[in-house]
Amino acid sequence: MTYVVALTGGIGSGKSTVSDYFATLGVPVIDTDVIARELVAINHPCYEAIVQKFGNSILDDRLSIDRRKLREIIFHNADAKKWLENLLHPQIKQALREQISKLSYFYCLIVVPLLVENFEHYKNFVNRVLLVDSLEEHQINRTMARDHSSLATVKNIIASQASREARLAIADDILLNNKELKILKQEVELLHQKYLQKAQELIKPQ
Ligand code: ADP
Repeated sequence: MTYVVALTGGIGSGKSTVSDYFATLGVPVIDTDVIARELVAINHPCYEAIVQKFGNSILDDRLSIDRRKLREIIFHNADAKKWLENLLHPQIKQALREQISKLSYFYCLIVVPLLVENFEHYKNFVNRVLLVDSLEEHQINRTMARDHSSLATVKNIIASQASREARLAIADDILLNNKELKILKQEVELLHQKYLQKAQELIKPQ
């Protein structure tokens, strides 16, 4: 049985940075965004369901689902958002289960950017929640520098995501990413030791 740590945080908080550090320590990292992208690819059953629901206008020239258009629709329509989440998350969980069952490491990290928004789907599935917490000012500056996006775009995305308070409420561990990367990496190494220990406690006979 693999101990599952879910890593979450807002846009630009440092999730990729932190998950890369875990990966360099040998921890298997599974990104739910990658799974979600595979689920909406042509030929996947979810593709058909989504096109049936939203029509051909969400397709691009190559008949792939235009994820930007889909995001735009669900941004303005709460029912459509719920529908899509209910379609995708059980399947994401299934894919996670399959991938995790093949692992032979003590624990794994699953990256779930929208964990708070979809906590009901994951709460019985994860052993621990790790939050990369970042001040909004840092999130904005880092995302703008990384994506070359405007201040308004980044602010809009942040406003559409869960609040910092809601994220803190589900977190078991918090990495405050307001420091030099070198220090952040050291904190990841400490958490790694902690998770190794927790994972071993889980497999110890009672
Ligand atoms: P997320 O995956 O949460 O969207 P990233 O890990 O991609 O966030 O971080 C956003 C950007 O900020 C990246 O370009 C990353 O290199 C940079 N970054 C993250 N943490 C720090 C930090 N502590 N100091 C300086 N730059 C950082």
